Amino acid sequence: MGYQPDKNRYGTMEYRRCGQSGLRLPAISLGLWHNFGDATLIENSRQLLQRAFDLGITHFDLANNYGPPPGSAERNFGRILQEDFLPWRDELIVSTKAGYTMWEGPYGDWGSRKYLLASLDQSLKRMGLEYVDIFYHHRPDPETPLQETMKALDHVVRQGKALYVGLSNYPAVLARQAIDILNDLGTPCLIHQPKYSLFERAPEAGLLNVLQEKGVGCIPFSPLAGGQLTNRYLNGIPADSRAASGSKFLNPDQITEEKLEKVRKLNAMAEERGQKLSQMALAWVLRHENVTSVLIGASKAAQIDDAVGMLANRHFSAEELSRIEGILNS
Ligand code: NDP
Repeated sequence: MGYQPDKNRYGTMEYRRCGQSGLRLPAISLGLWHNFGDATLIENSRQLLQRAFDLGITHFDLANNYGPPPGSAERNFGRILQEDFLPWRDELIVSTKAGYTMWEGPYGDWGSRKYLLASLDQSLKRMGLEYVDIFYHHRPDPETPLQETMKALDHVVRQGKALYVGLSNYPAVLARQAIDILNDLGTPCLIHQPKYSLFERAPEAGLLNVLQEKGVGCIPFSPLAGGQLTNRYLNGIPADSRAASGSKFLNPDQITEEKLEKVRKLNAMAEERGQKLSQMALAWVLRHENVTSVLIGASKAAQIDDAVGMLANRHFSAEELSRIEGILNS
């Protein structure tokens, strides 16, 4: 017999309403940016997806370019979906995106209707799906009219190829405009995916307020700053870590002594709270009422266990919050 999900999978996870929509997302979602491409053994990727679903994580986040090579995360996810998850498709929220460079020439990047529609068709083929639950524009395009990009998002919903649409990496002012256009088109923006963590505070400058005001959900990515907000780098750079992997997004030079000093203090504080630093960092992001879900990455199933363990201890006193600010500003 193949994979049988845990019968108690809905027992501990919390499901939070996404903005003013009818959709609820798990408080923790799993992203497939790393550890799902062809460079990873598919059995490891399979284990991560199974553990996540067993713990009630119903939302898996992809993009056309996740790999390496680009497209391979969707292809590998599609294979695991077919082999293990097909009977549970209606219990899953699968998202993908287009917006970064995907193929050569003028139609494989940014935000034109031409690119977005072709890219979603390719993503569906790679994953073997008829529709995705959420289709995102991955980053703003300074040259394509916003109206054209939003109309393309509206179009894929009308085609039935996506159930909902979202924005990612849109700053506050542009997000507001895009959300208004989508509302006018009759396809409300479900969700926004910004980078947000103890180390990355930009959304606090306006974006979180816009999303609250407009009733749009929020799913912060890299809430652990790629692993920096964990105990991973406290004693050097482990050979199996992201920073050692040659990733252009996290290299050993970024793990500075100044940062480590803060991480050590945050780690001590998490210990006082009786939890791991990774758990405190996730709880801190999730403390906002209008943060729907935190979008984590994982290289090992135990990291998913850690994330879900956070749910048991999520409250911060005002004193704790100001202590965190003190550490970050030290
Ligand atoms: P995180 O900040 O959660 O970093 C995840 C990494 O941290 C893991 O791969 C692991 O790295 C390490 N880690 C996780 N848990 C633990 C733990 N308990 N103890 C020690 N180390 C831990 O998120 P990501 O940067 O991976 O991003 C998450 C998702 O967000 C992506 O998969 C993607 O879906 C989305 N994303 C979206 C972007 C966008 O532009 N919209 C951009 C980037 C990401 P290690 O390999 O060292 O074990």
